[in-house]
Amino acid sequence: MPTYDAIVVGSGISGGWAAKELCEQGLRTLVLEAGGPTDPGTDYTMHIQPWELHFKGWGDRQKKDREQPVQGRCYACDEWSGKWFVNDLENPYTTAEGTRFDWIRGRQVGGRSLTWGRQVYRWSDLDFEANGRDGFGTDWPIRYADIAPWYDRVERFIGISGNAEGLAQLPDGQFLPGMPLNAAEQFVRDGMARRFGRERVLTIGRCAILTENHRGRAACGYCGVCERGCSTLSYFNSVHVTLPAAQATGKLTLRPWSVAHSVMYEPRTGKASGVRVIDARTNEVLEFRARVVFLCASALESTRIMLNSTSARWPDGLGNTSGALGKYIMDHWMGWGAHGDVPGFENVTTSGSRPNGTYVPRFRNLTGRQPEFLRGYGYQGGGGRGGWGRGSGMPGFGRALKEALRTPAPWTYSMSAWGEQLPRDTNFVALDPVVKDKWGIPALRITCQWGDNERAAMRDASVQAAETLEAAGVRNVRQHTADNAPGLTIHEMGGMRMGRDRATSVLNGSNQSWDVPNLFCTDGACMASNANQNPSITYMALTARAVSLAVGMMRRHEL
Ligand SMILES: Cc1cc2nc3c(=O)[nH]c(=O)nc-3n(C[C@H](O)[C@H](O)[C@H](O)COP(=O)(O)OP(=O)(O)OC[C@H]3O[C@@H](n4cnc5c(N)ncnc54)[C@H](O)[C@@H]3O)c2cc1C
Ligand code: SF4
Repeated sequence: MPTYDAIVVGSGISGGWAAKELCEQGLRTLVLEAGGPTDPGTDYTMHIQPWELHFKGWGDRQKKDREQPVQGRCYACDEWSGKWFVNDLENPYTTAEGTRFDWIRGRQVGGRSLTWGRQVYRWSDLDFEANGRDGFGTDWPIRYADIAPWYDRVERFIGISGNAEGLAQLPDGQFLPGMPLNAAEQFVRDGMARRFGRERVLTIGRCAILTENHRGRAACGYCGVCERGCSTLSYFNSVHVTLPAAQATGKLTLRPWSVAHSVMYEPRTGKASGVRVIDARTNEVLEFRARVVFLCASALESTRIMLNSTSARWPDGLGNTSGALGKYIMDHWMGWGAHGDVPGFENVTTSGSRPNGTYVPRFRNLTGRQPEFLRGYGYQGGGGRGGWGRGSGMPGFGRALKEALRTPAPWTYSMSAWGEQLPRDTNFVALDPVVKDKWGIPALRITCQWGDNERAAMRDASVQAAETLEAAGVRNVRQHTADNAPGLTIHEMGGMRMGRDRATSVLNGSNQSWDVPNLFCTDGACMASNANQNPSITYMALTARAVSLAVGMMRRHEL
């Protein structure tokens, strides 16, 4: 049986970081990836125009309805990038009656790091202390000081552009220059500053896109279609950033088409002995051994692997002494906000497609206490002028219409909230008793619903967005709402939460299984709450930290 120092399951955002850090520490590391390889030379399609595609950018809608009815709900699953989203028939899941969960997944080397939106915001102690303060969920075993140096390490390596604002609820990081605000956004920022001071601040989005050449990768050229793959390597993904760093050490073995079935448990030692795999192309069952195993298959997939890793010792899933395995899953709610018209600036417009928007950090429940809800939300948004794209909505035809379209429309600005969901044991995943995936592995049954706290925060987000924009001088302000099911924000978290106590959590403060000491999970499954910031930078920082802690334990012969 092939034996390695370390096995990493998954090659996406977390798995790429685990591989890089483990290899750089000198460990012979096997990365098991369920999907096929990704070749930047042929698979990146940022420069392919709609007229070069078979369906001219509209995609094969019949095929999509048949094979990707869930994935197709994601804006990025189109004729260019649909190949980077799973086939829903091969990868089924079920939901509890009366509930819906839109589970958006990528299965290939790189995972969803290929298609992600690249927004990166640090968490603060407001977030790490939240569970302990209001009692929803278990207290996080770490605080900002524990993770801050790892945020630094990740940001310096991958390149983050953004502006420092000195806000306690959104710590600044190691930034490359932020992308510039456009005229409408600067107008709203200035207007907000006049009315709200530092209480409500609009800043350029912090994003994993280079504004300067960085470590052999070129600055972004503002083509604006990153989810197709970037041939100048200007945004972060694991295919062209972390996995090559791991490869450069000579310690990496990357095995695509390797569907992890379960973690093998050795009762004699009480440790994981390796990972059982089904070859995705031949269905052959294979076993790989290692001294340490890192699960990085994404929150719900890692949880599924653990639920599926049953034995006489662990009939309800590996390392499940607490009974918390599968529970406390969360997603962010999104889409509630407001928009309106920005007066003036007719003589200026934008050029290129800046692949980034604006951010208004959380301002609710910072010091005082909102009576209607706990926790908070932040707004993502942006300003702009309509161009050719508004053609279908404009009256007229022929030459007059074409000329009208050459004149940019007036400026508008829009902002929509991303908000926190409280961790609850009534939101959970379990193995479906009947449904299996293409490889015969039990599928997940997901139960997840918004609660009253989320609904109250959603309503507040629209009202506050409208008040903020009106105060900033935006005209004709209209509130907007959304009706998204959990899952569609694609920030699913929980299932193997970290905690201070083995009786109530699956992982300790080092992302290490309380019950199986050489088993770590560093993707979104570990999250004990979900704050309101986009989470992936926190997975990266937790991964780098956990590898360092694990390697320390290995060197001290504790694992
Ligand atoms: C369109 C879109 C926009 C997004 N925007 C943002 C954003 O702006 N900011 C942000 O923070 N996050 C964003 N996200 C979410 C972000 O992509 C995820 O949080 C992140 O990719 C999770 O990292 P991960 O390593 O846990 O999982 P992934 O990146 O999904 O990687 C998991 C890998 O594990 C593999 N795998 C799964 N099961 C198995 C198995 N059984 N055996 C072997 N391998 C397996 C998968 O094939 C995959 O390659 C977005 C996602 C999408 C799709
Ligand atoms: S917008 Fe920038 S990062 Fe995105 S694909 Fe284009 S060049 Fe690459």
